[in-house]
Amino acid sequence: MSTLKFAVLPGDYIGPEVMSEALRVLNHAASAAGLTLDYTFADVGGAGIDNHGQALPASTLQICRNSDAILFGSVGGPKWETLPPKEQPERAALLPLRKAFNLFANIRPGLLYKELTDASPLKSERIPEGIDIVCIRELTGGIYFGQPKTTILLENGEFQAIDTMIYKTSEIERIAEVAAVTAKARGGRVCSVDKANVLETSVLWRKTVIDYFAKNHPELELSHMYVDNAAMQLARDPNQFDVLFTENMFGDILSDEMAVICGSLGMMSSASLGTERNRHGHPFGLYEPAGGTAPDIAGKGVANPCAQILSAAMMMRYSFGHPEIATKIEAAVRKAATVDGYRTGDIAFGQKAVGTKEMTDAVIANLS
Ligand code: NAD
Repeated sequence: MSTLKFAVLPGDYIGPEVMSEALRVLNHAASAAGLTLDYTFADVGGAGIDNHGQALPASTLQICRNSDAILFGSVGGPKWETLPPKEQPERAALLPLRKAFNLFANIRPGLLYKELTDASPLKSERIPEGIDIVCIRELTGGIYFGQPKTTILLENGEFQAIDTMIYKTSEIERIAEVAAVTAKARGGRVCSVDKANVLETSVLWRKTVIDYFAKNHPELELSHMYVDNAAMQLARDPNQFDVLFTENMFGDILSDEMAVICGSLGMMSSASLGTERNRHGHPFGLYEPAGGTAPDIAGKGVANPCAQILSAAMMMRYSFGHPEIATKIEAAVRKAATVDGYRTGDIAFGQKAVGTKEMTDAVIANLS
């Protein structure tokens, strides 16, 4: 099937600015490969609220359902911050989208080119070759969704709040499979992160992971680490990891720690894969930059488009089965930002900074 059908949800502030650049790159890469792109724009987040009265309008959801993947910008910003929490763009758009498509696996590459190590808060001598790891977070289970989740008034007059952490074997096995497939395409090493010295869910997590890898992926090197140690090890020596994977809340925290040690949010892409297969027989997925809408730089033409471009590359790899195109785009971004020396303000460090469009032009030049 040579037509790639996806929904484009640009979102707010810098979202549309970087999205149009990612589409320029995708169009270029697709036409060079003889593929046709068939994409439909839809409002989401603040744009959804302004134009349809809802952060995730029904028409947007329908466009997503008619597609094989979603290319997502970022949502939210000061304009909508006074809305009640439940109506805020991020909560009212992203969480329902995750739910609607059962997006259970969040894949975040932690990539820092060695030429950009100055962007990391870690000392350059600790990461002489930059950083190249992947963090995989379970996204639909655990303490964020388990019931009961409530606050009650006790007889003595004080409040008591309850969150419940739940994991089933099947939920652990399917995220373990994503980690295994990811590791096979890389260094073959997987570190499962849990808190099995304290939590029941982690005891089941560790046993399930051990059994699953022994049965299905014995060739991979599997290790286990408690989450508190993993947080320290990430800051001490991130490259000791190849692929690390963990449950929802631990992953929320560790993936943000990884983002900060990798320097600018402007370079960080992500994929969230669902349980459904699309018409190409690949996982339906949502692809988005790890950062937000950067209202402080929106409208100035200076945002780094690379996170959005690299997210589009991930879409080609995971939802459309074109890893060769993904690799080409990734190489084009790397060369533009390193060898060619094109850098937006967030990664310039005293060098001349280029604008959003110029950065994209440099990427496209490397695809030609
Ligand atoms: P942010 O990620 O938008 O910005 C943090 C810093 O990183 C800013 O200085 C910003 O300029 C910079 N930055 C981010 N992306 C960049 C890029 N592509 N190029 C250059 N610099 C970039 O975080 P924030 O300021 O805390 O949040 C702003 C809004 O984004 C909030 O409304 C927040 O809720 C929302 N948000 C949305 C998502 C999402 O849609 N998934 C994720 C995070 C935050």
